[in-house]
Amino acid sequence: MPGGMHASRVLTRSLALAGAVVALCAGPAAVAHAEDGATTVVGELVQAWPETSLEGQHAGESHEEPLTFVEGADGSSVRVPAGAVEGIDLGSTVEVTVGGSTEDDAAADGYEPALEVLDTQVLRAARPATTVPAGSVTNQVTVAMVAPLGGVPDGTALADVVDTVNDGVAGFWSEQTGGAVTVGVTAAHDWITTAAGCADPTALWDEVAARVGFVPGPGRHLLLYVSSEPRDLPGCSYALGQVGAGVASGGRLYVRDDLASVIAHELGHNFGLGHSSGLQCDASVEDGTCRTAAYRDFYDVMGVSWDRIGTLTAAQAQRLGVLPAAATQTAGAGTTTATLAPVGSGTGTRALRLTDAAGTDYWLEYRTAVGRDAWLASDNRYRLDSGVLLHRAGALPDTSLLLDGSPSAAGGWEDDLQTALRPGVPVTVAGGELTVTVDAVTPAGATVTVVRTPPAAAVPAPAPAAAPAVLPGAGTTPAPAPAPAAAPSVPAEAAAVAPVPAAADPAPVAAAPVEAAAPEPAGSGWTTPALAAGGVVGAGGAALAGRRVLPLLRRG
Ligand SMILES: [Zn+2]
Repeated sequence: MPGGMHASRVLTRSLALAGAVVALCAGPAAVAHAEDGATTVVGELVQAWPETSLEGQHAGESHEEPLTFVEGADGSSVRVPAGAVEGIDLGSTVEVTVGGSTEDDAAADGYEPALEVLDTQVLRAARPATTVPAGSVTNQVTVAMVAPLGGVPDGTALADVVDTVNDGVAGFWSEQTGGAVTVGVTAAHDWITTAAGCADPTALWDEVAARVGFVPGPGRHLLLYVSSEPRDLPGCSYALGQVGAGVASGGRLYVRDDLASVIAHELGHNFGLGHSSGLQCDASVEDGTCRTAAYRDFYDVMGVSWDRIGTLTAAQAQRLGVLPAAATQTAGAGTTTATLAPVGSGTGTRALRLTDAAGTDYWLEYRTAVGRDAWLASDNRYRLDSGVLLHRAGALPDTSLLLDGSPSAAGGWEDDLQTALRPGVPVTVAGGELTVTVDAVTPAGATVTVVRTPPAAAVPAPAPAAAPAVLPGAGTTPAPAPAPAAAPSVPAEAAAVAPVPAAADPAPVAAAPVEAAAPEPAGSGWTTPALAAGGVVGAGGAALAGRRVLPLLRRG
């Protein structure tokens, strides 16, 4: 319709949106010319309220009713008389047959005339996305359904994505931050077709931001659900998250899966978190030949994401500044003994912090099937250990490393997802400075003892992973039988940020991390995980300075 685009621009530029009604674009737009000169338009029923200046209000110029549009997915729209669609819920996808122009006050004010409605059919009932008032949450999420260049909307419903954010994602972050981070969808926009593709994600985000009126700012997040139709859109990763500086940074993200763990993970990047990865050393916990395997912490949301979201590990919670002091104990000089409550319980002392002479933090926590980690008993498809885990905090991109408390020789790394410390077997880390022993494990708690040995005066604070002269200790313990369900695949990712491992069908690929040559500066990175088996997504990372290939484990 000739007037459609104009009306659409006016809508975006000049009008306040009426109540909870937002500038929605509906499913497939179609404008077909009927034989009798009438026109059929398919789109979403949208209303918007024209603002009137204070002077205009005093002059009695206020509009008495909102403007009503049928807006297609391509952004074009036609205006129709409000009365012609009375009784149809806003947000419904309708097919209207329109005829000639009608006269009304809005037309007199310069808006494109409303068209006479000859026939109306509701193609899809409105399913309102439940947004929350902006002031009620610390982290406001604007959701937009996006079919980027080359794509068409898939079958995912806006309301479902919004529910995922408001339910699983919000619940997770609120719980894990003691209520410090409350997430909620404050604006929701149905399918938009963009001129930008995934190959330039910032252009994609920018275009959508402009279309939906998203204003960046502290605690403000723009979440795109990017269509998976077709699945192999050039440059489209499984998910992509901008890395922020903290929980208040705000940021942009997109996902191609309506999965709470993936959205929670990308928000974690917005909050400033890197990945929860694994450190695997050759028959050693921390010494000798080692590799960092991105995502290889299946317990944590910043590791491999699947349909379970475990408790946020202490190293990541500490990075966010949300780990309560009461939840932690710090190992002092000499010998420290602590009893750790299950980290999933969310109560009691549940993390023991060990800081070595170089300032590196190690964390002990007791993971067992309690609370948020109850799936360890009910759906432990990767045969993860329950027990005491040892993590090492680090810088981006791997801000938490899960050390293997029962390490395999290098040849067994792929199949070794069992990482708990063995009770009674001392494990030495930090170049020999810290020796950790799990004394006892019961369902209620785990008792651990840490012995600190001051580093030799002649050796200036060695880097933890490079420290020599430490025997493997517990490393000789044979690894348990490999988890047969785990099959690695290889996503690609940008240097400074981290994507979510794809839940796609992977082909087994040898995991060989290749470190990026030139990391992106913090705050500007993003992630580009592969969607498909062994796929290395190229386009999405074309602008990045470096990339690396990382192992990804998932069920075959
Ligand atoms: Zn990531």
